[in-house]
Amino acid sequence: MSAQTRLFMCRSDNFGVLLHDPKTGATAAIDAPEAAPIELALQQTGWKLTDILVTHHHADHTDGIMALKAKWKCRVTAPAAEADKIPGVDATVKEGDKVKVGTLIGNVIETPGHTLGHIVYWFHADNLLFAADNLFSVGCGRVIEGTMDQMWSSMQKMNDLPDETKVFCGHEYTASNIKFALSVDKGNAALLARASEAAKQLAGGQPTIPTTIGEEKKVNPFLRAAEASIAANLGMAGKPANEVFAELRERKNKF
Ligand SMILES: [Zn+2]
Repeated sequence: MSAQTRLFMCRSDNFGVLLHDPKTGATAAIDAPEAAPIELALQQTGWKLTDILVTHHHADHTDGIMALKAKWKCRVTAPAAEADKIPGVDATVKEGDKVKVGTLIGNVIETPGHTLGHIVYWFHADNLLFAADNLFSVGCGRVIEGTMDQMWSSMQKMNDLPDETKVFCGHEYTASNIKFALSVDKGNAALLARASEAAKQLAGGQPTIPTTIGEEKKVNPFLRAAEASIAANLGMAGKPANEVFAELRERKNKF
């Protein structure tokens, strides 16, 4: 049996995710936005928490760590570059490192931009990406600590992953991301289809994720900044992709 996941909401719009290895029983929480909903998901699945894989230092991704650690004695893995801002860290990781959740193996990819030390976890054999506040469905994280060029490089790393990769992100921002995307990529039929799919999912109380890298390449303007049509829609025909990306991110900030 391969990896299993459990997706649920935390706080107001954070996604919580558990990753479970049926072979060994090992279970990781991807970030710890809030302890109670993670405990509830563990109770409902019967899984025992062995690991917390932290993506970045923001409180809405780390507030639950100490309560979970006190109860489960789980191992907390965090990005080396910002481990000093994250409570309870047992192991630090950087670009190219691998993490193990039982027999499941994840690659650490550094994705600076949202924060300087932000990382994502890519479980290649299971086609799972835990992208937190780097890549959202139809959007990307705010560039808070890094530069626009760093964030664009991080987006390109996501573009290089296999199309079939399932993406779990950090927040349910899809509806507002789609509104913005439609403002810069109106003629995109795949985006219109995604808009109606997401509207149905949300109306039914369902999450809009996981998405896939292949789908995001078609609908996410922040991954599509190198497309001539996006540049043209922004009045930036012929401009380099990093500049188009920066303009997209600036416009989204004000949207
Ligand atoms: Zn964040």
